Amino acid sequence: MTSNRRTFAIISHPDAGKTTLTEKLLLQGGAIHLAGQVKARGDARRARSDWMKIEQQRGISVTSSVMTFEKDGITFNLLDTPGHEDFSEDTYRTLTAVDSAIMVIDAAKGIEPQTRKLFEVCRLRSVPIMTFVNKVDREGRDPFETLDEVADALALDVSPQMWPIGMGGLFEGLLDFRTGLVARPEGASKEFLGKRETDAAIPERYAEEIELAQAGYPEFDLEAYRNGDLTPVYFGSALKNFGVEELITAIADFAPPPRPQPAGEELIGTDHGEVTGFIFKVQANMDPNHRDRIAFMRQVSGTFKRGMKLTPSGLGKPIAVHSPILFFAQDREIADTAEPGDIIGIPNHGTLRVGDTLSETNKVRFTGLPNFAPEILRRVQLKDPTKTKQLRKALDDLSEEGVIQVFYPLIGGSSIVGVVGQLQLDVLVSRLSAEYKVEANLEASPFATARWLKGSDAAKDAFEKFNQGNIAHDRDGDLVFMAKSSWDVGYQQEKNPELTFSATKER
Ligand code: GDP
Repeated sequence: MTSNRRTFAIISHPDAGKTTLTEKLLLQGGAIHLAGQVKARGDARRARSDWMKIEQQRGISVTSSVMTFEKDGITFNLLDTPGHEDFSEDTYRTLTAVDSAIMVIDAAKGIEPQTRKLFEVCRLRSVPIMTFVNKVDREGRDPFETLDEVADALALDVSPQMWPIGMGGLFEGLLDFRTGLVARPEGASKEFLGKRETDAAIPERYAEEIELAQAGYPEFDLEAYRNGDLTPVYFGSALKNFGVEELITAIADFAPPPRPQPAGEELIGTDHGEVTGFIFKVQANMDPNHRDRIAFMRQVSGTFKRGMKLTPSGLGKPIAVHSPILFFAQDREIADTAEPGDIIGIPNHGTLRVGDTLSETNKVRFTGLPNFAPEILRRVQLKDPTKTKQLRKALDDLSEEGVIQVFYPLIGGSSIVGVVGQLQLDVLVSRLSAEYKVEANLEASPFATARWLKGSDAAKDAFEKFNQGNIAHDRDGDLVFMAKSSWDVGYQQEKNPELTFSATKER
């Protein structure tokens, strides 16, 4: 049976139009579970209010974590990758739970730093990417320039699937290479309201450009796309509704259904004989007096039924999943079953950790759920030095939960915490105080990034001996090189070819 699920994320730099595109996708599809601003329709409205009840009871905001919509028999699970000030390791980890990604680029700005970071994480797992060049209703760069930039910067083949007929004030429509139809702007707002014409209507002066766009780039190749070697490129305007429908059709037709997931040497497919999944995100209660957490499980195989007993790998004994949050709950209050590709929210009191596998038999362990090298490192300074033990417990807990990473330097007493986004530091300080009664300051550290060291014990020992001031152990006791700059990483890698300086670590 081929799955009708498409589980994906949007990766972009702030302001490229992710929110606008998300809303348009949800409106085009019958949104089952809805983002904040989007107006609910019919049944979906009811589902949403049920939702908010759960959120109020538990004080956990999960509304936009997973958005589900349906179109032409396909169920789309869109996972939110928080950006802006919420940028954190969760953003990266969410990408371990999707089967494909849409990369949204501002037509005027091209590839921006956050797009590139998120892209690199997708590449780690060969997540296939479709590109959506947004805002063609505004003055932008020459589309050829954007295509070449994507190809060069990301070392990907690009295959344009659409073409903007003029841009900005000259924008006359969007040609879909697949159908040969041109979507036209209408009315004062110049939106796409459903009018399409044949390409005979394209002004002569664009003919040469379009011919070049079709002939000058590789043809779409499903296998190359699914291997992560080629990105089909769609143009459009999320704001004016151009290219959105074409994008949904492309996801339905080309984006991979739930992919098999690595578990050591094995690959676990959707038809594996039991329910399995892995936790990619844990969200804590916003009220520190509640210990409630929601763990988000990406289902990999089997048909999940409410009340089922699953064993988390970190716990070793089964838990009954009585009140799962199923994001596609449509016309029932809470759905009773879920399929591979779906996300299940599991309320718990801290028993479920990021990276845990859940299964019926406790025989599967999913791998490839890495920690990511932090980009912000801070020294933790206790206000009350007698609280060292409490601090250590707190840092260990919070790092297991995936809020921060913690490093214990060989030399010097204080711990170093690492995060990928600033907000995580604020969360850390307030949770230390509220939950562990530990008051701490975060101070500048001399380090800019960290790399996990891999290699023979002898090579690691030798390196450790000569670089004591730059060595730390992480929570699991693994050896970490604390680098003062990324240049430092490159330099040491060159000097120590027998060691690998890894930016990710498998749990
Ligand atoms: P996000 O930060 O990536 O979520 O971006 P938003 O969706 O919030 O969009 C950022 C800004 O760009 C907002 O002012 C949007 O109205 C605007 N915007 C988004 N898509 C388009 C588009 O296709 N055309 C134009 N002209 N503006 C857009």
